[in-house]
Amino acid sequence: MPARLLDGVSLAASTLETVSAEAVDFAASTGRKPCLATVLVGDDPSSHVYVRMKVNRSRKVGIDSRRIDLPESTTTGELLSVLHDLSSDPAVDAILLQHPVPAHIDERAAFEAIDPRKDVDGVTRTSFAQMAFGEPGFSSATPGGIMRLLDADNVQLAGASAVVIGRSPILGKPVGMLLLAADATVTLCHSKTTDLADEVRRADVVIAAVGRPEFIRGDWIKPGAVVIDAGYNEGNIGDVEFSAAAERAGLITPVPGGVGPMTIAVLLDQTVQAAKALADVR
Ligand code: NAP
Repeated sequence: MPARLLDGVSLAASTLETVSAEAVDFAASTGRKPCLATVLVGDDPSSHVYVRMKVNRSRKVGIDSRRIDLPESTTTGELLSVLHDLSSDPAVDAILLQHPVPAHIDERAAFEAIDPRKDVDGVTRTSFAQMAFGEPGFSSATPGGIMRLLDADNVQLAGASAVVIGRSPILGKPVGMLLLAADATVTLCHSKTTDLADEVRRADVVIAAVGRPEFIRGDWIKPGAVVIDAGYNEGNIGDVEFSAAAERAGLITPVPGGVGPMTIAVLLDQTVQAAKALADVR
């Protein structure tokens, strides 16, 4: 395997050491820990696992969590009311609405009910616009984690051709914005892209965010390219055909142990930043 691994586990661990130290300082100066509220609607087993991981990891770094689990039958109005209450609660610094929410809920309306100052998962229009304009604000957690992985390995983005496969509002689109802000030449691919293999073949940096196991074939990868696999499919399988891609890539993220740990690290880092900023305002 000629490719070197981009190790999200160790970068997340060092990020969380800093987060933990900042959480201790915050508690010492305010008399309380930073608090992340998680809101989960419905019974999706994977979403329950993700929320449990986030709550456990919060506790380990000295962040309190308030976990709110709502039934599948929750209406958009009921969810908005919960999110408005959390947004105005001074004991809550950060809010994560686990997505996807059940199909009958207006997800965009729910995201917009989160106070942008507490939007540590970067899902509101305000956060997206701040990211797009390069202004201070919270990035979407997974794209933020991807950019930190690239930065930690000094991947040259200025002038590089970056191809993102996937254009979801929480992953593909925002990571495209962040790559553009880093002066990459960005192509966003999606289900209507006519020749995906051709797009990927000329990419210096490939970001896979599709949600289909091993969909990006190893022989599409340009020799020496940087391959970031954000996909996570049942059985710990990414969106990239890992073993074949690793034969051609220069750098590649493993699944698991690449992007996933960085998503949580960014979420908790942004939680402490939100707590500090709100404490200054108060
Ligand atoms: P999503 O909302 O389902 O979006 C999937 C994207 O893939 C869409 O933009 C879709 O295009 C595109 N796509 C589907 N079929 C395609 C095809 N044949 N060719 C090219 N593009 C195609 O998914 P998501 O929420 O962005 O998540 C993507 C993956 O990342 C999933 O595996 C998810 O589990 C993973 N994920 C991981 C983390 C983490 O922390 N590691 C966090 C979030 C998500 P259209 O827009 O045209 O439909």
